[in-house]
Amino acid sequence: MSLKQRDKKHIWHPLTQHKLHPEAIAIVKAKDCILYDEDDNEYIDAIASWYTCMYGHCNDYIIDRVTAQMKQLDQVVFSGFTHEPAIKLSEELIKILPKNQEKVFFSDNGSTSVEIGIKMALQYHSNKGSKRNILIAFEDGFHGDTFGAMSVSGLSVYNGPFEEFFITVERIPTPNGTNNQDVLDKLKNIIENNKVAGFIYEPLVQGAAAMKMYDINGLTDILKLCKENNIITIADEVMTGFGKTGSYFASKQLEIKPDIICLSKALTGGLLPMAITSCSQEIYNAFFSDDIGKGLFHAHTYSANPIACTAAVASLELLQSDEIQNSIKAIIKSHKKFGERIVNHSKVKSIRQTGVIFALDLDIEMERYGNLRDKLLNFFMDNGIFLRPLGNTIYIQAPYTISQKQLEKIYKTIEQALEII
Ligand SMILES: *Cc1c(COP(=O)(O)O)cnc(C)c1O
Repeated sequence: MSLKQRDKKHIWHPLTQHKLHPEAIAIVKAKDCILYDEDDNEYIDAIASWYTCMYGHCNDYIIDRVTAQMKQLDQVVFSGFTHEPAIKLSEELIKILPKNQEKVFFSDNGSTSVEIGIKMALQYHSNKGSKRNILIAFEDGFHGDTFGAMSVSGLSVYNGPFEEFFITVERIPTPNGTNNQDVLDKLKNIIENNKVAGFIYEPLVQGAAAMKMYDINGLTDILKLCKENNIITIADEVMTGFGKTGSYFASKQLEIKPDIICLSKALTGGLLPMAITSCSQEIYNAFFSDDIGKGLFHAHTYSANPIACTAAVASLELLQSDEIQNSIKAIIKSHKKFGERIVNHSKVKSIRQTGVIFALDLDIEMERYGNLRDKLLNFFMDNGIFLRPLGNTIYIQAPYTISQKQLEKIYKTIEQALEII
């Protein structure tokens, strides 16, 4: 029996309506930018497996470090104990995070890093004796699938059954340069009429909103208004973190620094699940007390797993290497050229790019998980490219190690795909 067939017996896949999509492709191995399936087909991983494997799959540099660590210390409770991999990671991460970040809190996926960010913001005010009970988020933001994260996500198309259990969130549109004043007015109105604890946002690029890129000045004005009102700002950099936007973190391009930052996805180069919520000294100080109840009583069993921390330290070294920094520059350049080549195509509505993230909107209506979208996805797979269109958006976010030749193959296949729709 093939893996594909055995899979069907017991496995329930994420984001899948099994009646409509009964089969998964079985991947047997991966190396650098290529995925190999059980029938010996090869696919270029043009989205770095949801933006995680940015240094290529099964990266030897990370693997060697992790292998050594596995023989030294595998797992230990992180409450009451500490270890070198976590300490080293905190030191190295703080060096490249926005200057105001001082403390890191560990968890194991993007959604939990958001939950922790939300809890930090709510408890910050509670510890200071002020009752603030709502959060602000963008209308089309995405922050994960656990309850707090779902509550702040605006893109909850399929979250209907849970909505009545959500925490209270007021939404504002993303600023696009022309609506900035309206967004600010709406925000002011919300602040005047509510006790707002925090504002959560994906800086510069909203991933699940189909790589929506928005106005940096508009975001700056929002953050300023939040600061003036002592509203805790939470930058969800789960997708944008670690070089994707052309700087180590998107927040580094903004004049106003967030109080809290959520990180995961590329943190370990895709080798192991891990997440971090970092924060400023000011946030940490609000929890530092003789009163035990003012501490942050949140833990995950695998918090700061030493092997995952080691993978993250090795990944950070790669990120800062000349080799990776040069590849990032090269990818940015080739995407620009591809954009110029394709922008006037009759089926292309618009293109956009931030750092290594490239997206194009097709000039046709498409459902997020509809038939046309499936047709496109299948076309890419049949042509050896793993790309997941989001509605009528095709986007590329390939590993930094991708070659020019592989990039050219992705571009050509996208151009061919325009001919079949
Ligand atoms: C993927 C993602 C999350 C959720 O991370 P998971 O590890 O899938 O739980 C949260 N926020 C953003 C911006 C993301 O891209």
